Amino acid sequence: MRIVLLGAPGAGKGTQAHILQQELNIPTLSTGDIFRKAIADKTEVGLAAKDYMDDGNLVPDEIVVSVVCERISQDDCKNGFILDGFPRTVKQAEELNKMMSADNIKLDYIINIDVNDEEIIRRQGGRLMAVKSGKIYHKNFNPPKVAGKCDVTGEDLIQREDDKEDVVRHRLNVYHEQTKPVEDYYKSHGNFLNINGIQDVNKVTQDILAGLKQL
Ligand code: ADP
Ligand code: ADP
Repeated sequence: MRIVLLGAPGAGKGTQAHILQQELNIPTLSTGDIFRKAIADKTEVGLAAKDYMDDGNLVPDEIVVSVVCERISQDDCKNGFILDGFPRTVKQAEELNKMMSADNIKLDYIINIDVNDEEIIRRQGGRLMAVKSGKIYHKNFNPPKVAGKCDVTGEDLIQREDDKEDVVRHRLNVYHEQTKPVEDYYKSHGNFLNINGIQDVNKVTQDILAGLKQL
Protein backbone atom coordinates (compact mmCIF):
# COMPACT_ATOMS: atom_id res chain seq x y z
CA MET A 1 0.00 0.00 0.00
CA ARG A 2 1.38 3.43 -0.96
CA ILE A 3 0.15 6.37 1.06
CA VAL A 4 0.76 10.12 1.18
CA LEU A 5 -0.02 11.97 4.41
CA LEU A 6 -0.87 15.64 3.87
CA GLY A 7 -1.55 18.34 6.44
CA ALA A 8 -0.18 21.52 7.99
CA PRO A 9 3.04 21.38 10.02
CA GLY A 10 1.80 20.02 13.35
CA ALA A 11 -1.39 18.42 12.04
CA GLY A 12 -0.29 15.03 13.37
CA LYS A 13 1.24 13.43 10.27
CA GLY A 14 4.31 12.08 12.07
CA THR A 15 2.24 10.82 15.00
CA GLN A 16 -0.15 8.95 12.72
CA ALA A 17 2.62 7.71 10.40
CA HIS A 18 4.27 6.05 13.39
CA ILE A 19 1.08 4.22 14.32
CA LEU A 20 0.09 3.35 10.76
CA GLN A 21 3.46 1.88 9.84
CA GLN A 22 2.94 -0.72 12.56
CA GLU A 23 -0.71 -1.33 11.68
CA LEU A 24 0.03 -1.68 7.97
CA ASN A 25 3.57 -3.10 8.17
CA ILE A 26 5.13 -0.65 5.72
CA PRO A 27 7.91 1.90 6.35
CA THR A 28 7.42 5.63 6.87
CA LEU A 29 9.50 8.05 4.82
CA SER A 30 9.58 11.37 6.62
CA THR A 31 11.53 13.96 4.63
CA GLY A 32 11.83 16.09 7.79
CA ASP A 33 13.42 13.15 9.66
CA ILE A 34 15.71 12.37 6.71
CA PHE A 35 16.95 15.98 6.67
CA ARG A 36 17.36 16.17 10.46
CA LYS A 37 19.48 13.00 10.34
CA ALA A 38 21.49 14.36 7.39
CA ILE A 39 22.17 17.55 9.37
CA ALA A 40 23.26 15.57 12.44
CA ASP A 41 25.55 13.44 10.21
CA LYS A 42 26.86 16.60 8.49
CA THR A 43 26.29 15.15 5.01
CA GLU A 44 26.15 17.22 1.82
CA VAL A 45 22.32 17.01 1.80
CA GLY A 46 22.25 18.09 5.46
CA LEU A 47 24.45 21.10 4.79
CA ALA A 48 22.30 22.09 1.82
CA ALA A 49 19.04 21.76 3.82
CA LYS A 50 19.99 23.30 7.15
CA ASP A 51 19.51 27.03 6.52
CA TYR A 52 16.16 26.51 4.83
CA MET A 53 14.92 24.40 7.73
CA ASP A 54 16.16 26.75 10.43
CA ASP A 55 14.31 29.62 8.76
CA GLY A 56 11.13 27.58 8.33
CA ASN A 57 11.39 27.62 4.53
CA LEU A 58 11.06 24.68 2.19
CA VAL A 59 14.18 22.91 1.03
CA PRO A 60 14.45 23.31 -2.80
CA ASP A 61 12.45 20.77 -4.81
CA GLU A 62 15.48 19.25 -6.63
CA ILE A 63 17.12 18.27 -3.33
CA VAL A 64 13.95 16.82 -1.78
CA VAL A 65 12.96 14.94 -4.92
CA SER A 66 16.38 13.29 -5.28
CA VAL A 67 16.33 12.22 -1.61
CA VAL A 68 12.85 10.67 -1.96
CA CYS A 69 13.68 9.05 -5.28
CA GLU A 70 16.65 7.31 -3.75
CA ARG A 71 14.72 6.25 -0.64
CA ILE A 72 11.67 4.76 -2.36
CA SER A 73 13.86 2.66 -4.63
CA GLN A 74 15.21 0.76 -1.60
CA ASP A 75 14.11 -2.82 -0.94
CA ASP A 76 11.99 -2.17 2.16
CA CYS A 77 9.71 0.06 0.07
CA LYS A 78 8.86 -2.65 -2.45
CA ASN A 79 5.55 -3.53 -0.75
CA GLY A 80 4.59 0.04 -0.02
CA PHE A 81 5.37 3.09 2.09
CA ILE A 82 3.88 6.03 3.93
CA LEU A 83 5.15 9.44 2.78
CA ASP A 84 5.10 11.92 5.67
CA GLY A 85 5.87 15.52 4.72
CA PHE A 86 6.30 14.89 0.99
CA PRO A 87 5.11 16.19 -1.45
CA ARG A 88 4.94 19.76 -0.15
CA THR A 89 4.74 21.56 -3.51
CA VAL A 90 2.81 20.79 -6.70
CA LYS A 91 6.17 20.38 -8.46
CA GLN A 92 7.14 17.66 -5.94
CA ALA A 93 3.76 15.94 -6.50
CA GLU A 94 4.36 15.96 -10.24
CA GLU A 95 7.88 14.60 -9.82
CA LEU A 96 6.59 11.84 -7.51
CA ASN A 97 4.04 10.96 -10.14
CA LYS A 98 6.79 10.67 -12.76
CA MET A 99 9.00 8.58 -10.47
CA MET A 100 6.18 6.16 -9.74
CA SER A 101 4.99 5.92 -13.36
CA ALA A 102 8.53 4.97 -14.39
CA ASP A 103 8.33 2.04 -11.92
CA ASN A 104 4.79 1.20 -12.94
CA ILE A 105 3.40 1.87 -9.47
CA LYS A 106 0.87 4.37 -8.15
CA LEU A 107 -0.38 5.91 -4.94
CA ASP A 108 -3.25 4.04 -3.31
CA TYR A 109 -4.38 6.73 -0.85
CA ILE A 110 -3.87 10.39 -0.12
CA ILE A 111 -4.84 11.20 3.47
CA ASN A 112 -5.28 14.83 4.45
CA ILE A 113 -5.24 15.51 8.20
CA ASP A 114 -7.28 18.65 8.63
CA VAL A 115 -6.42 20.99 11.54
CA ASN A 116 -7.01 24.75 11.80
CA ASP A 117 -4.24 27.31 12.30
CA GLU A 118 -4.97 28.15 15.98
CA GLU A 119 -4.73 24.50 16.96
CA ILE A 120 -1.50 24.18 14.93
CA ILE A 121 0.13 27.00 16.90
CA ARG A 122 -1.00 25.40 20.18
CA ARG A 123 0.38 22.02 19.21
CA GLN A 124 3.75 23.11 17.83
CA GLY A 125 4.63 25.03 20.99
CA GLY A 126 4.42 21.84 23.06
CA ARG A 127 5.89 19.34 20.61
CA LEU A 128 8.68 17.17 21.96
CA MET A 129 10.67 14.73 19.92
CA ALA A 130 12.85 11.66 20.48
CA VAL A 131 15.60 11.83 17.88
CA LYS A 132 16.60 8.12 17.97
CA SER A 133 13.16 6.48 18.04
CA GLY A 134 11.50 9.24 15.98
CA LYS A 135 8.54 9.18 18.39
CA ILE A 136 6.63 12.43 18.84
CA TYR A 137 5.03 13.72 22.04
CA HIS A 138 3.22 16.80 23.29
CA LYS A 139 3.79 18.28 26.74
CA ASN A 140 0.03 18.33 27.44
CA PHE A 141 -1.88 16.54 24.68
CA ASN A 142 0.29 13.46 24.28
CA PRO A 143 2.78 13.36 27.17
CA PRO A 144 5.43 10.65 27.68
CA LYS A 145 5.01 8.33 30.69
CA VAL A 146 8.07 9.87 32.35
CA ALA A 147 8.42 13.64 31.80
CA GLY A 148 11.13 14.49 29.27
CA LYS A 149 11.96 10.84 28.39
CA CYS A 150 10.97 8.66 25.40
CA ASP A 151 8.63 5.75 26.31
CA VAL A 152 10.46 3.43 23.90
CA THR A 153 14.17 4.26 24.28
CA GLY A 154 14.30 6.34 27.49
CA GLU A 155 16.32 8.99 25.59
CA ASP A 156 15.92 12.70 26.45
CA LEU A 157 13.20 14.48 24.47
CA ILE A 158 14.07 17.71 22.65
CA GLN A 159 12.16 20.72 21.35
CA ARG A 160 12.87 21.39 17.67
CA GLU A 161 14.55 24.73 16.90
CA ASP A 162 11.94 25.39 14.20
CA ASP A 163 9.10 24.91 16.72
CA LYS A 164 9.70 28.36 18.24
CA GLU A 165 6.57 30.46 17.76
CA ASP A 166 7.81 32.95 15.12
CA VAL A 167 9.23 30.14 12.96
CA VAL A 168 5.99 28.14 13.39
CA ARG A 169 3.96 31.11 12.11
CA HIS A 170 6.26 31.44 9.12
CA ARG A 171 6.02 27.70 8.36
CA LEU A 172 2.27 27.99 8.48
CA ASN A 173 2.35 30.78 5.88
CA VAL A 174 4.65 28.68 3.72
CA TYR A 175 2.16 25.81 4.07
CA HIS A 176 -0.76 27.95 2.92
CA GLU A 177 1.16 29.37 -0.03
CA GLN A 178 3.03 26.32 -1.29
CA THR A 179 1.59 23.12 0.17
CA LYS A 180 -2.16 23.76 0.28
CA PRO A 181 -2.37 23.63 -3.56
CA VAL A 182 -1.09 20.03 -3.35
CA GLU A 183 -4.48 19.10 -1.84
CA ASP A 184 -6.28 20.32 -4.96
CA TYR A 185 -3.77 18.52 -7.14
CA TYR A 186 -4.62 15.23 -5.42
CA LYS A 187 -8.36 15.81 -5.06
CA SER A 188 -8.62 15.33 -8.81
CA HIS A 189 -6.06 12.53 -8.98
CA GLY A 190 -7.28 9.61 -6.90
CA ASN A 191 -8.32 8.20 -3.55
CA PHE A 192 -8.42 11.30 -1.38
CA LEU A 193 -9.44 10.99 2.25
CA ASN A 194 -10.10 14.07 4.38
CA ILE A 195 -9.78 13.37 8.12
CA ASN A 196 -10.75 15.61 11.03
CA GLY A 197 -7.41 16.00 12.84
CA ILE A 198 -8.86 17.76 15.89
CA GLN A 199 -9.74 14.62 17.77
CA ASP A 200 -7.94 12.31 20.11
CA VAL A 201 -4.87 10.66 18.48
CA ASN A 202 -6.53 7.21 18.61
CA LYS A 203 -9.76 8.48 17.08
CA VAL A 204 -7.82 10.04 14.19
CA THR A 205 -6.14 6.65 13.59
CA GLN A 206 -9.52 4.87 13.70
CA ASP A 207 -10.98 7.29 11.17
CA ILE A 208 -8.00 6.79 8.85
CA LEU A 209 -8.20 2.98 9.03
CA ALA A 210 -11.97 3.04 8.53
CA GLY A 211 -11.51 5.38 5.55
CA LEU A 212 -8.91 3.10 3.95
CA LYS A 213 -11.33 0.17 4.13
CA GLN A 214 -14.17 2.22 2.70
CA LEU A 215 -12.40 3.68 -0.34
P1 ADP B 1 6.47 19.19 10.32
O1 ADP B 1 6.52 17.91 11.11
O2 ADP B 1 6.29 20.36 11.19
O3 ADP B 1 5.46 19.13 9.23
P2 ADP B 1 8.84 18.29 8.99
O4 ADP B 1 9.61 17.58 10.02
O5 ADP B 1 8.05 17.48 8.04
O6 ADP B 1 7.90 19.38 9.70
O7 ADP B 1 9.79 19.24 8.15
C1 ADP B 1 10.69 20.11 8.77
C2 ADP B 1 11.35 20.99 7.73
O8 ADP B 1 12.06 20.17 6.77
C3 ADP B 1 10.40 21.82 6.89
O9 ADP B 1 10.02 23.05 7.52
C4 ADP B 1 11.25 22.05 5.63
O10 ADP B 1 12.25 23.03 5.85
C5 ADP B 1 11.96 20.71 5.47
N1 ADP B 1 11.18 19.78 4.63
C6 ADP B 1 10.63 18.60 5.01
N2 ADP B 1 9.98 18.02 4.00
C7 ADP B 1 10.10 18.86 2.93
C8 ADP B 1 9.63 18.85 1.60
N3 ADP B 1 8.87 17.82 1.12
N4 ADP B 1 9.93 19.89 0.80
C9 ADP B 1 10.69 20.91 1.22
N5 ADP B 1 11.16 21.00 2.48
C10 ADP B 1 10.87 19.99 3.33
P1 ADP C 1 3.28 16.82 11.92
O1 ADP C 1 4.12 15.59 11.64
O2 ADP C 1 2.08 16.91 11.05
O3 ADP C 1 4.08 18.06 11.95
P2 ADP C 1 3.19 15.80 14.66
O4 ADP C 1 2.75 14.38 14.54
O5 ADP C 1 4.62 16.07 14.91
O6 ADP C 1 2.67 16.64 13.40
O7 ADP C 1 2.29 16.48 15.82
C1 ADP C 1 2.50 17.83 16.24
C2 ADP C 1 2.26 17.94 17.77
O8 ADP C 1 0.87 17.73 18.04
C3 ADP C 1 3.02 16.89 18.59
O9 ADP C 1 3.41 17.49 19.79
C4 ADP C 1 2.00 15.79 18.81
O10 ADP C 1 2.24 15.06 20.02
C5 ADP C 1 0.69 16.57 18.89
N1 ADP C 1 -0.46 15.83 18.34
C6 ADP C 1 -0.48 14.98 17.29
N2 ADP C 1 -1.73 14.50 17.08
C7 ADP C 1 -2.53 15.09 18.02
C8 ADP C 1 -3.94 15.00 18.33
N3 ADP C 1 -4.78 14.25 17.60
N4 ADP C 1 -4.39 15.74 19.36
C9 ADP C 1 -3.52 16.53 20.09
N5 ADP C 1 -2.21 16.64 19.85
C10 ADP C 1 -1.70 15.94 18.83
